[in-house]
Amino acid sequence: MSKSQPHSRKPNIGVLALQGDFEAHRSALERAGADAVEVRTAADLDSIDGLVIPGGESTTMLKLLEEENLFEPLRRFGERRPVFGTCAGAILLAKEVLNPRQPSLSLMDLTIERNAYGRQIDSRIAQIEMDGQPAEAVFIRAPVIRRVGAHAKVLAEYQNAPVLVEQGKHLAATFHPELSPQGHVHERFVSKVRDCTV
Ligand code: GLN
Repeated sequence: MSKSQPHSRKPNIGVLALQGDFEAHRSALERAGADAVEVRTAADLDSIDGLVIPGGESTTMLKLLEEENLFEPLRRFGERRPVFGTCAGAILLAKEVLNPRQPSLSLMDLTIERNAYGRQIDSRIAQIEMDGQPAEAVFIRAPVIRRVGAHAKVLAEYQNAPVLVEQGKHLAATFHPELSPQGHVHERFVSKVRDCTV
């Protein structure tokens, strides 16, 4: 976006609020300079510039998406506008889901394996590197990205696996940036939404 647009409005970003930790995303988006609204119906998608799919349980979210007739509207929304998926949200964005196989929105060319760190290390706070800076990453029953398509860009890794990936307008994190104080990941998404708005 050019500097000569002082009147450009704040982007309006939806957070899918069917299940999971949508509240923390809402405040992280607001800290990153966006207006945040909760999305529960297909009509809610009409007024937003981008969407966050939060963590939670991807199987439950899939079920709720089907019940609310939101699966197809959400997929079509993602063809036009940026979507950021964290953890279960990243699972929903991926093209291929393992352990077990399940349907997904297929908006990013990734293969992702659910609950891949095993039971004994369900959750942890790890140190990763982002944009050349040390950063904290909160993993909760996290998936592992096993394959990244040719058009996807790996922005951060942990234990030799991608944990933050960008593909065109979309972004996927296997960790929970909304639970850490540093706001880089949400800032990055907000700027992707701004770029897509102009
Ligand atoms: N284990 C969950 C799933 O497979 C994801 C966990 C999370 O979103 N924190 O859907």
